[in-house]
Amino acid sequence: MTREEQKLRQGIIDACLAMNAQGINQGTSGNVSARHGKSMLITPSGVPYEELKPADIVAMPLDGGNGAYKGKLAPSSEWRFHLDIMAARPEVGAVVHTHSTYATAMAICGLEIPAVHYMVAAAGGPTIRVAPYATYGTEELSHNALAALEDRSACLLANHGVIATGPNLQRALWLAGEVETLARQYVLARALGNPTVLPDDEIAVVVEKFKSYGPRGKAAQKAVKPAPRRKRAAGGKTSARKRSGPAKGTPGRGGKKR
Ligand SMILES: [Zn+2]
Repeated sequence: MTREEQKLRQGIIDACLAMNAQGINQGTSGNVSARHGKSMLITPSGVPYEELKPADIVAMPLDGGNGAYKGKLAPSSEWRFHLDIMAARPEVGAVVHTHSTYATAMAICGLEIPAVHYMVAAAGGPTIRVAPYATYGTEELSHNALAALEDRSACLLANHGVIATGPNLQRALWLAGEVETLARQYVLARALGNPTVLPDDEIAVVVEKFKSYGPRGKAAQKAVKPAPRRKRAAGGKTSARKRSGPAKGTPGRGGKKR
């Protein structure tokens, strides 16, 4: 195994630990994958993240549609949509899947996330759609997810959870946190009254602004480090010291450029 692959495998483990530390995942219900050449590296099925070693991460060929894999452990039972997204979307370098509470609550009600905050543009458009329900791990769910992800980098899965993608682990993890924050804001806003939805042309403006923002090149490839326990790694609020957290270079919530 090359050092680069070793680092990527460790990055997947770090992303798993970070999503639990951020409170956007429970136990081992979520799963994380990253592109590595013509393969996808993905978390194994049912191993507590704290016990994961780089060697436990499973490699699956991107053209192996039937679930072929290399490794001593079986891949996550939800490998199919990870693999199909990577095969269909060459710009995607990483996929983070969680059952985060507020986003899942919305998905249970079949509610997409509307443009009630400009940060919805982080997922690429004026809404974050809900893919229709299908049993976890099935080709049907994967098909539904790919359709909901059209022109988007995130979607909800009805009665299930969230998929967030990105060019690398940092960005996918960051987006998974943003989707949960948006869902939480929307649920609270609905409880208070009638949320105002921003017009599509305003979101189009923000989508363009975000394009000139994100981390580019080598900086974006740095491994994800687990978030500090007490700090939520939402948007631009994470500590910038030493670690290159998901917020670095990403459109921050409440930052200067608001
Ligand atoms: Zn799931």
